[in-house]
Amino acid sequence: MSSYCAQCGTILQAGYRFCSKCGLKLSAEAVESLKSTGSVMIFCNGSWTGTISDKDGSRSINGYGNQNYKINGKGLISINAQKTGMEVGTLTIQILSDAGTILNQQSTTMKDGLVTVTHEFI
Ligand SMILES: [Zn+2]
Repeated sequence: MSSYCAQCGTILQAGYRFCSKCGLKLSAEAVESLKSTGSVMIFCNGSWTGTISDKDGSRSINGYGNQNYKINGKGLISINAQKTGMEVGTLTIQILSDAGTILNQQSTTMKDGLVTVTHEFI
């Protein structure tokens, strides 16, 4: 379900208290009506291991290459991942709203590089 700004008609995005276009402060009902889900994207050209912590608890993640995870989009989200292969290259973690907006992202190019990304959903 989409909600629209009462002032400018822009589609409102979960995770924000204000209209992204005109800055109108959203009512508590408008904020609550927005879907509160999000996702995490991990981009890597090698193998990695890490942890996702959200309102549902912590879980270990590991894989090779690019992966996408659903998260509980309420409260504080923290994700960390570390490159475990010998490969050079970039490890990137993105936290995305359910609309696909990048809320936060971090990258590392270091060997055995560790990345931590956090975002506080409302
Ligand atoms: Zn607006």
